[in-house]
Formats: sequence, structure tokens, C-alpha cells
Amino acid sequence: MAFVITSPCIPEKAADCVDVCPVDCIVEGDDQYFIDPDLCISCGACEAACPVGAVFEEYDVPLGESHYIEKAIRFFQNA
Ligand code: SF4
Ligand code: SF4
Repeated sequence: MAFVITSPCIPEKAADCVDVCPVDCIVEGDDQYFIDPDLCISCGACEAACPVGAVFEEYDVPLGESHYIEKAIRFFQNA
């Protein structure tokens, strides 16, 4: 189970989460940052650090934001 970055990241992109991730699994994309679901150890540090509440545990992603789970998977498949 990994954490997922959702839509509030898109205008913000300040990368506070990148600085706190202990396994360096948060990567910058064109419009937002992405968490690599294969590397995330679900420590929750990024969720606490994000100033706009964009980060959720995968099972806790709000309705209407669930496509961000697939978007992250696609991002790392194409990387
Ligand atoms: S801290 Fe939040 S808004 Fe900023 S880059 Fe990370 S997920 Fe996006
Ligand atoms: S939950 Fe922890 S390991 Fe996963 S992306 Fe966030 S800071 Fe990194």
C-alpha cells in the first residue's frame, strides 16, 4: 500500500514532500509530483509535510481523485 499525490499538488508543486521522503521515491512530473508505488514505504512523512493536503494513503484517496492512483502508475511505467 502506497501513498498517492492528488490534484491540490498541481498548482502548488513546492516539493516539501520530496525533502522529507526517507526513500527518495517522490519524482517531479510535468504538472505534479508523483510517488513511486513500488518504492513507497508508507511512512506518512510526505502527508504531514504537504501544505495543501494533496497526499493520501491509497485506500483513503477521496472520491473523484481516484484516477490519480492510475496516473502515478502510468507515470512510472513510462519513465
Ligand atoms: S508537498 Fe504536496 S503540493 Fe508540494 S509537491 Fe509535495 S504533494 Fe505536491
Ligand atoms: S509515505 Fe513516506 S516513503 Fe512514501 S512517499 Fe511519502 S514520505 Fe516517501
